[in-house]
Amino acid sequence: MATILRDGDLGLLNGKVAVIGYGSQGHAHALNLRDSGVEVEVGLREGSASWGEAEATGLTVRTIADAVSGAQLVAMLLPDQVQPQVYADHVEPNLAPGAAVLFAHGFNVLYERIAPDASHDVIMVAPKGPGHVVRRLFTEGYGTPALIAIQQDASGGARDLALAYAVGIGAGRAGILETTFKEETETDLFGEQAVLCGGTSELVRAGFETLVEAGYAPEIAYYECLHELKLIVDLMWENGLAGMRYSISDTAEFGDYTRGKRVIDEHVREEMKGILADIQSGAFAREWVEDMDNNEARLKAMRAEAAQSQLETVGKDLRSLMHRAGDR
Ligand code: NAD
Ligand code: MG
Repeated sequence: MATILRDGDLGLLNGKVAVIGYGSQGHAHALNLRDSGVEVEVGLREGSASWGEAEATGLTVRTIADAVSGAQLVAMLLPDQVQPQVYADHVEPNLAPGAAVLFAHGFNVLYERIAPDASHDVIMVAPKGPGHVVRRLFTEGYGTPALIAIQQDASGGARDLALAYAVGIGAGRAGILETTFKEETETDLFGEQAVLCGGTSELVRAGFETLVEAGYAPEIAYYECLHELKLIVDLMWENGLAGMRYSISDTAEFGDYTRGKRVIDEHVREEMKGILADIQSGAFAREWVEDMDNNEARLKAMRAEAAQSQLETVGKDLRSLMHRAGDR
């Protein structure tokens, strides 16, 4: 079993840390590091909508260039699409000699869209959870697990620095695992495409549409195929597949064993291998970068089309009845 690390020397973060971006991960890293006693400056575009929000928490906010200047470590917590341009225009020209560059996902480094000079440490601390959870668990005294990786160790202390940062954002409380930029990026992309986002979305949609096309009420189809998914996944999260199967009825369990493999059959497994091959060859990255360079035209069109579906309109009405205010 892989070694789970818990400790790091926070004292290594004794200079300024520039957190670039104040979105999902940015706000969480900035606030958690600050609360861990690290000197943090948030770097934002002039006129950024997040500027006032970050300042209201007591954080120092500066332009990206000013935050990077003199920083010991620069955390690139912007959307992956915009990082290469921001790095070239505002980060690289202001990077202090020997400053470390940190990423929360390996995409730009693995696919060589950002290649810091060999004199800089290039490290990764990738929390295995959304930024808002990284912040919430920290304030509750818990942490979110994180992966750390070293791409360039110019200082000889890159690994210790990554561990210190991971501990600073609270990951040591939950567990820190060592990986590489390649492994993190490829597994992250595969997970979100085949299982977590792509696979699950299409599974839900196909189940919903099968019931609706057969004449069943869309509301009932929604409860069955989407609403209950969370309850089932919560059980898996708590105690694994066996724990989930312990809680469901024997009828559900019998159907699970006898029918699940008809849905996720050999064909699906072959497709998963193809999806992984596209990630490993760089074909997926090229396709996504091509869309980035085209103003994300495909992404925007697919997003707009998906928002029109009956699953979404039915779900919106049902959720307004079920969810407490503030749940979403
Ligand atoms: P995000 O979309 O939430 O970040 C948006 C922030 O980036 C904005 O608040 C703004 O401050 C800044 N920004 C946006 N466009 C900009 C531009 N053109 N120029 C300058 N600043 C700009 O990003 P995120 O989801 O937190 O992702 C940040 C990094 O963390 C990515 O590398 C991502 O892969 C990684 N990551 C994210 C999550 C997650 O939970 N979202 C989880 C693990 C890793
Ligand atoms: Mg992920």
